[in-house]
Amino acid sequence: MTTVNLLEFDLEGLAAFCEKLGEKRFRATQLFRWIHQRGASDFAQMTDLAKSLREKLATTARVEALPVITQHESTDGTIKWLFDVGDGNAVEAVFIPEGDRGTLCVSSQAGCAVGCRFCSTGHQGFSRNLRTGEITAQLWFAEHFLRQHLKRDDRVISNVVMMGMGEPLQNYSALVPSLRTMLDDNAYGLSRRRVTVSTSGVVPMIDRLGADCPVALAVSLHAPNDPLRDDLVPLNRKYPIAELLEACQRYLAHAPRDFITFEYCMLDGVNDQPEHAQQLVELVRSTGISCKFNLIPFNPFPASGLLRSPQPRVLAFAKALSDAGIVTTVRKTRGDDIDAACGQLAGDVKDRTHAAERMAQRRTVVLHPVRAAASKVSPAPPVSQGH
Ligand code: SF4
Repeated sequence: MTTVNLLEFDLEGLAAFCEKLGEKRFRATQLFRWIHQRGASDFAQMTDLAKSLREKLATTARVEALPVITQHESTDGTIKWLFDVGDGNAVEAVFIPEGDRGTLCVSSQAGCAVGCRFCSTGHQGFSRNLRTGEITAQLWFAEHFLRQHLKRDDRVISNVVMMGMGEPLQNYSALVPSLRTMLDDNAYGLSRRRVTVSTSGVVPMIDRLGADCPVALAVSLHAPNDPLRDDLVPLNRKYPIAELLEACQRYLAHAPRDFITFEYCMLDGVNDQPEHAQQLVELVRSTGISCKFNLIPFNPFPASGLLRSPQPRVLAFAKALSDAGIVTTVRKTRGDDIDAACGQLAGDVKDRTHAAERMAQRRTVVLHPVRAAASKVSPAPPVSQGH
């Protein structure tokens, strides 16, 4: 008999499921707490549920994590998992501890259809959307694994960033129940300010997210003008920068933070010159948008044909933005000893849509070079550079 994976549900969904079993709504809250707060997957353990309900659950439901293909732990405490999602597809999640904060980077799709040039996931093409249960399972597994691994009883993961593989806003209907589970006090109880959706700029869905489930928003900008962004983030051809920034302004009316984070991956000789910094300053000034910039050292991989900006140039770029009054950070690299950017492990599993071949053809187009790119490739950080 086919059973339902209860990780598919937010609390509303679980209540509806329990009602179908002829159970009262408060039973769903108890069950939800067992699963998410205590990490239970065996209904027999859930001793405060009526025996009759446990028996019904045993025949109709299950709580099932994703199979782990690999787990790599860095000397700095960063842990990266590669999960099997079937049919030769795999997705990644990364835990990044820092002081009293524990951040989990979560994937929303197997592959990605957006095809950003600097992104390893984009080079793999798109396989499929993850289901809600597969998104939630990354947090469920990581939180309860880490409590045991680190011998802790309290919550380990304090922040979630939807910056793993995939464009979360192109998998909206699966994403939102998972976000609601992250936020629910009967589950993980994360603050809206500590759950971040990162998007390459799916404008209509930014508006929907603001209405349905406002959380912190990060936007993968990566270029200060449309011609360059058209090349780097192909979705820009559909939703150009002006439209994107207007959507960001509208989002701020709902957002739990009073700023949008712009992610900017620093690519040697492509988008890292003083004039690009100046264009960004003008963009921010002309729109008046409240924002922060996060500069990301690019994580080179052979198929991209791109190189990481030298550190002095990244720092000069950051200074130019900061001097103009824009709060700017440079992302630290973590877990250098375990792996490169998000998507690279999974890329070894399958390139389903031959995206790498298509990308290689695109690469023959010269990308507005400011100068001949020739810097030395430096070691790679572990986490995603776009999402
Ligand atoms: S940066 Fe994000 S949207 Fe772009 S290809 Fe990678 S996963 Fe997709």
